[in-house]
Amino acid sequence: MHTQDITEIQGLLSSPKNIVIVTHKNPDGDAIGSSLGLYHYLKSQQHNVTVITPNDCPEFLKWIPGMDTILKYDHNSSKATSKIEAADLIFTLDFNHFSRSGDMEHILAKTKTCFIMIDHHQQPDTYASYTYSDVSMSSTCQMIYHFIEKLDDLDKITPEIATCIYVGIMTDTGSFRFRSTTSTTHKVIADLIDHGADNTKIHEDIYDTNTLSRIELQGIALNNLKVIPEYKTAYITLSQKELDQHNFKKGDTEGFVNMGLSIQGIVFAVIFIENKGDKIIKISFRSKGDFSVNEFSRNHFEGGGHHNAAGGRSNISLSDTVEKFISILPSYKNALNQ
Ligand code: 5GP
Ligand code: MN
Repeated sequence: MHTQDITEIQGLLSSPKNIVIVTHKNPDGDAIGSSLGLYHYLKSQQHNVTVITPNDCPEFLKWIPGMDTILKYDHNSSKATSKIEAADLIFTLDFNHFSRSGDMEHILAKTKTCFIMIDHHQQPDTYASYTYSDVSMSSTCQMIYHFIEKLDDLDKITPEIATCIYVGIMTDTGSFRFRSTTSTTHKVIADLIDHGADNTKIHEDIYDTNTLSRIELQGIALNNLKVIPEYKTAYITLSQKELDQHNFKKGDTEGFVNMGLSIQGIVFAVIFIENKGDKIIKISFRSKGDFSVNEFSRNHFEGGGHHNAAGGRSNISLSDTVEKFISILPSYKNALNQ
């Protein structure tokens, strides 16, 4: 983001505005953390701010400060629509293409107002008047910190803002271990702790929230894990029936895909999760090193994301999806064995 853009945004924010913040569908820790962090910051600057998510987020995020103010489009589309129509400014966070906002896609696409995109995914679309896109960033939350920094307002970071931003950096970096974690990320984290983020408590509130049924579902996932040594690949399947038998709730399968990636020698891990309600198979892809799951997902499974973490979908059955996946692997044999 250029200095000129920052100056213009400072101008826009110099008087109270109606501001809407939108996340992607199935918001994760980074989407919620960045939106609520920005929400608290803008509120403190006297703006009228509404966070809208296309649908609900997982239970383990529900304690994040400001959560109770979030408007869910799928629950209250008329109120969400009127907020969008009345907005002077719309921030879109942690996504870069309207199609990622699910049923909100069409309303966003026809809205003629000033959009500000803050995002770290690959291949951003061009809808925004101001685009702060940086694929090298650990998380959108880290970018919210830098955004506040650019606005010269780091001294306005409250414990609430620090907590929200900390959550998304922690969840998107796998607790500060993925390649996107830089020394700057750690400096930002240190500053957030100094501004009142309680790091141990945040970690516990996010990760130590297992239910017995989730641990049992993890057992099923492990039992279904298959390894294809030839392609350094591991994959897991979960059928709707298996989910139903273990009282599945949104977010319960978060992180399961990493079990495959933790096996020695594996560079590509995938989880296929049947969703009968949406009539799709939701897929998560993870990789280590040079193999780009962003490209793999874009090319074959209508998705995308980052170099080492991406999502996608399939509209055929679970077994047909796995069969399709296995049939594609040979063309990536060299890439997977580098
Ligand atoms: P997850 O596997 O955790 O759902 O997503 C991994 C990463 O890929 C996240 O950064 C997420 O935003 C992105 N992602 C997930 N699903 C999709 C998708 O269908 N399309 C695109 N473009 N990105 C996705
Ligand atoms: Mn993110």
